[in-house]
Amino acid sequence: MSTQANGVYCRYCGSTPAVDLDFRAHRGMVFIMQFRKLPGPYCRDCGLASFRKMTGDSLVQGWWGPISAIIANPVTLLINLVNRARLQQLGPPIPGAPSLPMNPGRPLWQRPAIVGLFLPFIVLGLIVYSGAHSSGSSSNRNSYSYLNPPSTSYTVPSIPMIPSIPSLPTTQPAHDAKSAKVGDCVWDKNGDIAKDDHPKVEVVECGDQRAQATVLAKPTGPTGDTECDNKYPATDVIITHKTSFNGGPEIEDFALCLQLK
Ligand SMILES: [Zn+2]
Repeated sequence: MSTQANGVYCRYCGSTPAVDLDFRAHRGMVFIMQFRKLPGPYCRDCGLASFRKMTGDSLVQGWWGPISAIIANPVTLLINLVNRARLQQLGPPIPGAPSLPMNPGRPLWQRPAIVGLFLPFIVLGLIVYSGAHSSGSSSNRNSYSYLNPPSTSYTVPSIPMIPSIPSLPTTQPAHDAKSAKVGDCVWDKNGDIAKDDHPKVEVVECGDQRAQATVLAKPTGPTGDTECDNKYPATDVIITHKTSFNGGPEIEDFALCLQLK
């Protein structure tokens, strides 16, 4: 594994070597399914960070519908695993890129989301158990009826628009993400806040046409994003804000738990 520029540059930090692939997340709900895609090219570190984030999301959110649990989520997870293997063939990003590569963070198996890996087996076990213990065929039918889903609509968003290389941080105006308070409404200057991995969040009036989401909570510290997941189930999108202290590595200093409007 050698580190040599390969002519491909990471979309997120500008590093090379990089490889052009996408990471996906799937969210299943009974009536709709949501597919998210974070497009590359990725350097090794940004790719690993995105793999862990998107796969972790899918492990938790991906099972909640029949089609999702049986097909869509397993396929999503498999694609991510294959792409992670491709990513692992890259050497570490060569220093000196326009911005620092993302911090990959803890491996998936050390994150709470890994519990999600066992969800389908637990649910399947419960179905089999309730089937075996129910008397009469009518309740048997009930426990399997969910396998025939009602008409399922698909929301398949197109590839999100993400700026090619993030610009270096500049001084922020007073209505930036940092100034957001619980109950505030925000929008993403860069596009769709639900899909954008590098959103430029600004506070706007909730009546404003641009408002895309409401701030449910603003937990501080490096575990802010998991707090959104755990304590605010209405959260649709989590924006994490990172700061570098005295030129050190970037650390998450707060998260915005957002509910889409
Ligand atoms: Zn990168």
